[in-house]
Amino acid sequence: MTQLSEDTLRARYPRSSALYQRACAVIPGGVSSPVRAFRAVGGTPLFIARGAGAQVFDADGRSYLDLVGSWGPLIAGHAHPAVVAAVGEALQRGTTFGAPCEAEVALAERLVASYPAVEQVRFVSSGTEAVMSAIRVARACTARDLIVKFAGCYHGHADHLLVAAGSGLATFGRPSSAGVPEAFTACTRVLPLDDEAAARALFERDGARIAAVIIEPVPANHGLLLQRREFLAALRELTRAHGALLIFDEVISGFRLGRDGAAGLLQITPDLATFGKVIGGGMPVGAFGGARAMMARLAPQGDTYQAGTLSGNPVAMTAGLATLDLLEREQGWQRLETLGAELEAMILPVLAGAAFPLHFVRVGSLFWISLHEAGAPRTAATLTERETQRFARLFHAMLERGVYLPPSAYEGCFLSLAHTRADLARFCEALRESLATLA
Ligand code: PMP
Repeated sequence: MTQLSEDTLRARYPRSSALYQRACAVIPGGVSSPVRAFRAVGGTPLFIARGAGAQVFDADGRSYLDLVGSWGPLIAGHAHPAVVAAVGEALQRGTTFGAPCEAEVALAERLVASYPAVEQVRFVSSGTEAVMSAIRVARACTARDLIVKFAGCYHGHADHLLVAAGSGLATFGRPSSAGVPEAFTACTRVLPLDDEAAARALFERDGARIAAVIIEPVPANHGLLLQRREFLAALRELTRAHGALLIFDEVISGFRLGRDGAAGLLQITPDLATFGKVIGGGMPVGAFGGARAMMARLAPQGDTYQAGTLSGNPVAMTAGLATLDLLEREQGWQRLETLGAELEAMILPVLAGAAFPLHFVRVGSLFWISLHEAGAPRTAATLTERETQRFARLFHAMLERGVYLPPSAYEGCFLSLAHTRADLARFCEALRESLATLA
């Protein structure tokens, strides 16, 4: 898939290659999460030894401009001194107590003050857990079973949400992974994005059985599929009319697009929201929240069980707080929007000069270069073989030029407060050169 042979890659990245070989013996596929394995682009995954600001350094000592940002959490950049200092101090006091701590109260207060739909919040250790738990609360509150999700939206790897996209009006959830019994997805319905009529038809038929509609308000897991506000407003209206809940999965968008996330940007208020990534400042944190009356269903107050040994971990809570403090102190979201707009101005002429169609999609500090020849899609469109191959070659050409892109054509890129105008210029120059090699 790459232009480089395995031998060339081994010679270029000897330590990453050796580590990968060791990893493959003891870790399935050599990685702890599948996309990291470079399967979509070919070659050997880089083993990262360290990060600083907007840079990562691989095990072979090469440095790269990082546009992955650990898939979203690193809004302050790698090893930001303020975050590192706060975490260092917290570590001195102990790593975990399995008891309440002040930092979790402070982070919860921050979330509640920032995100209007959330009156109470509970912490977990990943986005997957946040979504799983929010759905349990939604089902408890409505005494209904059905969950509606959208093709192309990812909500973590809980069984009942691992369902394939389907065409047509509405499809019954079919597991898209082995090991998920059909019975587990029998209560999941999948709808296409950008299609009010399909949503209306489903509600007309099954509205009385639907507990919740879950959506990434800014879908960012199948490329960046920016939705029309009217579509999301229609979901808000439909759920309300039928007594179902609307869940915004803000694991990526929460505290990245602003302190009130995509809900604030779109001015649409969900019933429940899920968070992760940015709120953990690079540590394993997730959260879900909503109105006090709904959250009161949770144990120990209510009848809906949810728990976690490391939930509200003091070190992780401190990293999250330090990151959110920094964003507030440094007008972070405003700066990131400016940076994103600067990138947009620089990159458009570069993309226009390519020998094949490329489309730039951006919201704030989150962007995607779409290789769909037909234009940037709003629904989960599959790339052709030719488009996929192009991305693989582009990815490796960029890597050779010291730019680390997400190793999949369907993944978005993340800017951080550590990225500078000079970094953006360097990125655009590398892109111009790489596109020329592909022509
Ligand atoms: N929801 C969304 C929107 C996500 O993007 C992700 C992960 N990328 C998740 C949930 C799952 O989060 P985690 O990987 O932390 O379990």
